[in-house]
Amino acid sequence: MTHHETCKTDIPKMLEISDVVQEGKGQKSFFFRHSIDCKPGQFMMVWIPEIDEKPMAVSYWSKKEFAFTSQAIGRWTNALDKFKKGDKLGIRGPYGNSFSIKNNACVVAGGVGFSSVSTLIDVLKNPLIICGARTKEHLIYLKRYKNKNLIITTDDGSYGRKGFATDMLEAVLNQNKKIKAVYTCGPEIMMIKAFEICPRYKVELEASLERYMACGFGICGKCMINDRICCIDGPIFNSKQLSQMSEFGKFARLKSGRKVTIKEYHERH
Ligand SMILES: Cc1cc2nc3c(=O)[nH]c(=O)nc-3n(C[C@H](O)[C@H](O)[C@H](O)COP(=O)(O)OP(=O)(O)OC[C@H]3O[C@@H](n4cnc5c(N)ncnc54)[C@H](O)[C@@H]3O)c2cc1C
Repeated sequence: MTHHETCKTDIPKMLEISDVVQEGKGQKSFFFRHSIDCKPGQFMMVWIPEIDEKPMAVSYWSKKEFAFTSQAIGRWTNALDKFKKGDKLGIRGPYGNSFSIKNNACVVAGGVGFSSVSTLIDVLKNPLIICGARTKEHLIYLKRYKNKNLIITTDDGSYGRKGFATDMLEAVLNQNKKIKAVYTCGPEIMMIKAFEICPRYKVELEASLERYMACGFGICGKCMINDRICCIDGPIFNSKQLSQMSEFGKFARLKSGRKVTIKEYHERH
């Protein structure tokens, strides 16, 4: 046993919420005063008794506490939205692989995908961050990263530059030849674009993918992408691995395990 009390029992541990922070519209961070061993990019399985258990990236991490940041979009995340300080949630993890740590990095975050790269940003040396969201209301962590090198884009131009985060990435790579690594998490359409842009500038990419996960530790097979099990081989994959995954940007599996197009996947859940 290390001095860190781990939740990695594969059985949820009921932890009390120590704080709830409203980050943006429908986006809240849930803090736990509890010590975990966690590497940048890892995720937790979060259980709401009598409802379901879902994956959430660790978005804040220190020796004494951790948090995850959820966006209320469906049944489970809307149920979570009602949880308050002092309430308890079932937590197990952390699970998954982690980002490599490289200098001269650019981080491209889309929407609540910012949460999956935030613990990476906290350990990188002066990264350039491009953060994209649909509108001003959907932006998170502006205060948290106000002293960082942050470029903001919104699809509707309501804050920062108007346009997509990946258009900004292309402009940045064009001008700044020092950037050697790009890290991304966000909608798969955005990550596919980043995956296409990076080789043109001979820059390595690591992307954190999202697939339906039920167990989080490689038993159920629902999160398979080609022959990769997203929850244990990923969720982070590099350019070389992504280039060998023909399903990236095209197919995902429903909770039954049935393979469908990405478009159908997002319509059906
Ligand atoms: C490794 C990983 C880390 C994640 N981290 C975060 C995070 O930090 N913050 C956050 O807001 N969201 C995160 N998600 C997505 C989050 O798990 C889903 O948004 C959530 O489960 C939606 O559940 P729902 O019932 O509210 O919505 P639903 O209406 O059931 O689903 C809405 C969408 O969420 C996705 N989804 C639903 N269930 C799952 C599941 N069991 N596994 C994966 N995706 C699912 C699907 O894309 C679906 O189309 C992460 C997903 C993965 C795989």
